[in-house]
Amino acid sequence: MQSYIDFANKNGVVLLEKGKCQFCGANVSDGIKDCVDLFNNKLDASLNFYNPENYIYKFLSVDAHTLQHPEIHGRWNNHLHLTRLHLILKYKINWTYKSSTILSNCLNKYKQTHLDEYLIPPRPLERGSLTITDIINHSQNEQKFKEMIKRWSVEVYTSWNKYHITVEKIAENYIDNTSS
Ligand SMILES: [Zn+2]
Repeated sequence: MQSYIDFANKNGVVLLEKGKCQFCGANVSDGIKDCVDLFNNKLDASLNFYNPENYIYKFLSVDAHTLQHPEIHGRWNNHLHLTRLHLILKYKINWTYKSSTILSNCLNKYKQTHLDEYLIPPRPLERGSLTITDIINHSQNEQKFKEMIKRWSVEVYTSWNKYHITVEKIAENYIDNTSS
């Protein structure tokens, strides 16, 4: 798997190693590296994501963080994570790991007819006001922590509103594939 540094290079983005995260504005001291470390290592310390009841918060936080940092991911990740948020937040789909597999298949089909489609991300620091540091700061109380993840995902989803109509097409295909 390519590292986020490889993706940044490929996207021609210079990664800043000091201060706040240049993409989401998280209040860290060593830039994007700190932001990614917090996301990878601190969220799981605050909530048992292996409990099926908590899966949804894992999905929402992965979607929120990924869509706040499109410069360090592959471009189709934006379609995938925005569609998932669309299905969870708009259609109230009860998401599971199996759902992600079905969505990946729908997206693979979609790609074949939309090879040149590129979602232009909202500008850095305009992808929702909440960041990973706000979420971590509310990790003492489980209920509050969950509420914060939900708010975070809604803010990020809203900041990408220009493309809700685009991912609607993928979401409809997902729904067709899962309704019997
Ligand atoms: Zn960040």
